[in-house]
Amino acid sequence: MIAGEFEFFAPPTLPDALRLLQEHGSACKVLAGGMTLLPVMTLGLAQPRAIVSLNHLQGLAGVEDVGPALRIGAMMRHATLGKHPLVLQHAPLLAAAARGIGDVQVRHRGTLGGSLAHAEPAADYLCATATLGARFLLQKQGGERWLDAAGFFIDVMTTALEPDELLTTVEIPKQAAGAGYSHQSLRRVEGAFPIVLASAQIAPGYAPARVGLGGIGPRPVVLEVDDVVKGGLTPAALEAVGARAFDAAQQALSDLNGSGDYRRAMARVYACRALEAAAAHLQAGGGR
Ligand SMILES: Cc1cc2nc3c(=O)[nH]c(=O)nc-3n(C[C@H](O)[C@H](O)[C@H](O)COP(=O)(O)OP(=O)(O)OC[C@H]3O[C@@H](n4cnc5c(N)ncnc54)[C@H](O)[C@@H]3O)c2cc1C
Repeated sequence: MIAGEFEFFAPPTLPDALRLLQEHGSACKVLAGGMTLLPVMTLGLAQPRAIVSLNHLQGLAGVEDVGPALRIGAMMRHATLGKHPLVLQHAPLLAAAARGIGDVQVRHRGTLGGSLAHAEPAADYLCATATLGARFLLQKQGGERWLDAAGFFIDVMTTALEPDELLTTVEIPKQAAGAGYSHQSLRRVEGAFPIVLASAQIAPGYAPARVGLGGIGPRPVVLEVDDVVKGGLTPAALEAVGARAFDAAQQALSDLNGSGDYRRAMARVYACRALEAAAAHLQAGGGR
């Protein structure tokens, strides 16, 4: 049960939502899918005096093709994103990440924007969007700004979002034709939250080649590995990438799911697995 009382707003337009955020500031919480916010409120860990639901807004759940990139609305549900034709064609790694999230209920309620704004370090989208070189559009009444992953993700469950700002759009550069990709995650059982994640994308000719890691520190980490894999994915190249992943996970945190040392070891394993799977996909012709 949610103990505290709060005012509930369901604005029909983005300007209405931004005005409400401006008026209520840090006393207010945005409601997207509610998959995280509602448990947090039930446990009494958040007690907002106002809720602004984004569920009645028009225009925040689509995909726009803007030439070199896709722009995806923050209210896109995981289930829709995972099978959207434009996302499958131009950002299949992100679609794969969406299809692996939680269970069928979570995928039908949870949203891209909600997951990114919550910024749980081991969330699938943090790793995938950082690997893909995403940009994030933050809007408030009378202003907006674009941030890259390094600017948006600040710390564990902390982003650059101010209380009067909404994450409205995520821009994903289109994958090169024929590129190989893979999104791999370590979970205790299917449907459980990931412990460590690795996403990899390799363009034809092995450049650019990139591995992203999640769950190994407060923020996602992206390794540019073109220099190592430019001659192909030899055992020596794989070992070098694994060593880089291990080094990158020095700040891996411990919790009930695993120690920092375990996560560090798994960073090496999963970086290599993702890269090998992406290379195999590239060899097979890549694409969606
Ligand atoms: C059982 C279960 C299993 C799960 N498994 C996984 C998993 O395997 N992988 C994974 O990555 N995730 C998993 N999740 C998390 C899931 O992806 C959630 O959907 C996500 O974390 C929150 O998204 P939401 O849309 O429900 O956001 P909400 O719960 O509505 O909001 C989350 C937070 O973000 C804020 N917020 C929401 N939207 C915006 C916005 N547009 N702008 C600014 N702030 C905003 C809210 O105010 C709140 O603080 C799981 C969740 C559950 C309950």
